[in-house]
Amino acid sequence: MKDQLIASFTAVYGRAPEIITRAPGRIEFIGNHTDYNGGTVLGAAVDRGVWVAVAANAEPRRRFHSAYSGETVELPVGEPKAQEGKASWTNYPQGVLAALPAFGLKAPQGFDYLAMSDLPAGAGLSSSAAIELASALAFLGLTGETADRETVVKIGKHAENHFVGVPCGILDQGVSGFGRADHLVFIDCRGPRFETVPMPTGTHFWIFNTHTKHALVDGMYAARNKACVDAAKTLGVSLLVEADADALEAGRAKLSDESYRRAKHVIEEIARVESTVEALAAGDLKAVGSLLTASHRSSQYLFENSTEELDLLVDTLTATPGVYGARLTGGGFGGAVMALTDGGFNDETAAKVAAAYRAKYGASPDVLHMRAGDGAAVL
Ligand code: ADP
Ligand code: MG
Repeated sequence: MKDQLIASFTAVYGRAPEIITRAPGRIEFIGNHTDYNGGTVLGAAVDRGVWVAVAANAEPRRRFHSAYSGETVELPVGEPKAQEGKASWTNYPQGVLAALPAFGLKAPQGFDYLAMSDLPAGAGLSSSAAIELASALAFLGLTGETADRETVVKIGKHAENHFVGVPCGILDQGVSGFGRADHLVFIDCRGPRFETVPMPTGTHFWIFNTHTKHALVDGMYAARNKACVDAAKTLGVSLLVEADADALEAGRAKLSDESYRRAKHVIEEIARVESTVEALAAGDLKAVGSLLTASHRSSQYLFENSTEELDLLVDTLTATPGVYGARLTGGGFGGAVMALTDGGFNDETAAKVAAAYRAKYGASPDVLHMRAGDGAAVL
């Protein structure tokens, strides 16, 4: 990919790049809707990502090119301006430019920029965080300024929250920033605090992306967020992470049945993240798998952010040899299912799962086989 990136940059801009960076996408391993409740989450950086190449150009212009749109977008230096339509992908690197001053850092002046990727966009693997972090490292390379890993993560999140306008939590950028091959990233969202946790050897991630999306997904996400905030208030805590199972039962009479189930999902999910860390340390993959599937069932019945399509994939996967566990990954209401498997689960088994899905829904899910890879880096 690096050679291809240099060749492509040279073809577009007539000279070689000065700096090359790469940042990975991520999988939400376990910790569903826990981030905005102050909880913990485990994610995996994947071995696919976005590469960025840049060179200063000594002109009052910034040029952005990506094979994603096939076009070069030319913008004047100075205040980043949000773009619409085909050029809207530049809002990710532009959002990073706009974020840098908020962290006491300089935005580079004129430059030429090229992005390339082997990570599908919009598949729930957070290509947006990948392009943000790869861009942040590239721009720091141009100005010669340095920032620690946590600041780079926060710059990416700032870009997504404030310039692109997506109210994501710290998971996406945190995992892309702190990922490590054959490890998971543990995030305590209140700090935030980041740690890596070794992944037992011989495990594999398989993603089945349904490409389905509930028509009202943004509104439903917001409704779940509000239900959690309201339940916390009723239970007398500022965030659900401060309530445990006993506190929930003690306050049950004050909650509607729906609020109770939403809060129960979050409180138990935070406990499942802790149990998963322990099971990983003990090398107990069966227990890890059970926790993953329990997380899905909780989404299905308590939080109600699963769909029929995702449930079918989880049902099929958990009945397939070689699968430790499976769950929806990400916000839910459509999207993708992740399975943790042993090495015996292969393309053929995955094709059978896809065929079962196709038999019911007429369309095939995209199947991706991935390993836990390294976090964002200058190459
Ligand atoms: P996800 O983060 O789940 O992949 P998002 O909708 O948050 O989905 O982000 C996808 C967007 O990120 C794309 O629509 C595009 O604007 C931008 N993007 C991702 N990869 C690239 C790339 N290689 N080049 C340019 N833009 C990209
Ligand atoms: Mg995204």
